[in-house]
Amino acid sequence: MQQTRIEQGLKYWNKFINTWADVHALAKAPLDDVLRAWQGLGYYSRARNLHRAAQTIAFERDGQFPVTAVEWREMPGVGAYTAAAIASICHNESIAAVDGNVLRVVSRYLDIQEPIDRPIGRNQVDAFASEWIRAEDAGTHNQAVMELGALVCKPKSPHCSDCPLEPTCLSAQPAAAGTPVPPIKQGKTKVKTLKMIFNVVTNGTHVWMRERPATGIWGGLWEFPSQEFQLNTAQPEYPPPEASLIPDSVLGRRLWGEPFEHILSHRRFRCQFVVWHIKGEPSVTQGKWMPWKEAESKARPRAIDRCWERLEKSCLTLNNR
Ligand code: SF4
Repeated sequence: MQQTRIEQGLKYWNKFINTWADVHALAKAPLDDVLRAWQGLGYYSRARNLHRAAQTIAFERDGQFPVTAVEWREMPGVGAYTAAAIASICHNESIAAVDGNVLRVVSRYLDIQEPIDRPIGRNQVDAFASEWIRAEDAGTHNQAVMELGALVCKPKSPHCSDCPLEPTCLSAQPAAAGTPVPPIKQGKTKVKTLKMIFNVVTNGTHVWMRERPATGIWGGLWEFPSQEFQLNTAQPEYPPPEASLIPDSVLGRRLWGEPFEHILSHRRFRCQFVVWHIKGEPSVTQGKWMPWKEAESKARPRAIDRCWERLEKSCLTLNNR
């Protein structure tokens, strides 16, 4: 559910559980099927990590799930918060789970004036949270502090008069007094805008698809070979995806559809499809030349998926020309 609303994630959760009922089933599933089931949810590294974690548990741990937070941290994709939340809530390990709500409560309670998104502020929160944990019922304590942040110590206008910490909190506000200054954040790095061209190389029946590298955006998903450009830099109108891979037999090339924006957490892409109508078959060294039907079964980035149906239909008609 990282960066995802519960209502949105639940649909995917149910689909996963219905498709792969236990860790062994998920471990044995092809990664491409898992990515496809994840399609539309974004942050695909979570799907890859989930799959790798299932394989670690099924094949290397004989189906035994980790118990302690230290063991959980060894699972792909499991960070400090998730490990502490599982270990404390499921196994009552005495360890603080610090999520965004807890960061807010503790930084206000102590009136921390250093940024909590930098080590100087974050370390103060972690040190206090570790001391504060109620060893005899760590899971309930962690859930209580998270709930306090979600329901009482809200980001704006906290309900201090309803808060059990009010008598000793250094940021307690009189009723309707507004919002305390903490938590202070130094801020995120600026979102960068880039231009992205998706090159749809097709002879009408087949299309060239390429798997993206496992790391980076859309890792492991299949795409029409793409190119990124800085905004405001000169570029040819139809930059060939890879000159050597386009045979002399280009029958035509054209911009397809309207340009559109696709926004990720740290990137904004101005996307455009370019359809390369070729005859015959290009000799591709990266990716695969495949029938449109097969391409349709591949897990794809949302930026491509949103136009897939119309694009496929329009390219299939090229065959008849
Ligand atoms: S007293 Fe107010 S600011 Fe302090 S923790 Fe409670 S709700 Fe938050």
